[in-house]
Amino acid sequence: MLFNVGFKEAMNDLDWDCLIFHDVDHLIENDRNYYGCTDMPRHFAVKLDKYSYMLPYNEFFGGVSGLTVKQFRRINGFPNAFWGWGGEDDDLWNRVQFANYSVSRPYGDLGRYMSIPHHHRGEAQFLGRYSLLRHSKERQKVDGLNNLKYLPLISRSPLFTNITVSLSRMLAPVADY
Ligand code: BGC
Repeated sequence: MLFNVGFKEAMNDLDWDCLIFHDVDHLIENDRNYYGCTDMPRHFAVKLDKYSYMLPYNEFFGGVSGLTVKQFRRINGFPNAFWGWGGEDDDLWNRVQFANYSVSRPYGDLGRYMSIPHHHRGEAQFLGRYSLLRHSKERQKVDGLNNLKYLPLISRSPLFTNITVSLSRMLAPVADY
């Protein structure tokens, strides 16, 4: 949901055409891993130190990913229904597949990242993610950019913009999965 807010706010700012969604705790190791958009959604964070620099599973789409604005709108953005840790990137992967895109990735060691070790203090793994993921396809049409509601509080500094948002957890629109 916060990624969707970021998208909306960025588009209020300028007419961007390429979006990079970046976990704040991921540090790029190879600066030739160019953050640009291609004709297919791109997964940049392929090899993470915390997974011994191996892709944990083929459908992994977490850490750092990039889509054009056109691609992102076509898949109805991220799901809003995932709260807590985990699953939103898996749902994004499903959305991308349902839209008949294939995911591109940087070659070889270009996609190496270090992730800053930290505790997910008090933040529970989102265990509801598995049942939501089983219904990715139905939910894609009704959960995303088209049902996003939030209240932003924006403060601008010379080098960054801080956006604090009030979110309300939305009920599952079609059925309570
Ligand atoms: C979670 C993803 C996460 C992946 C790797 C999965 O179980 O659903 O959100 O990116 O594990 O940590």
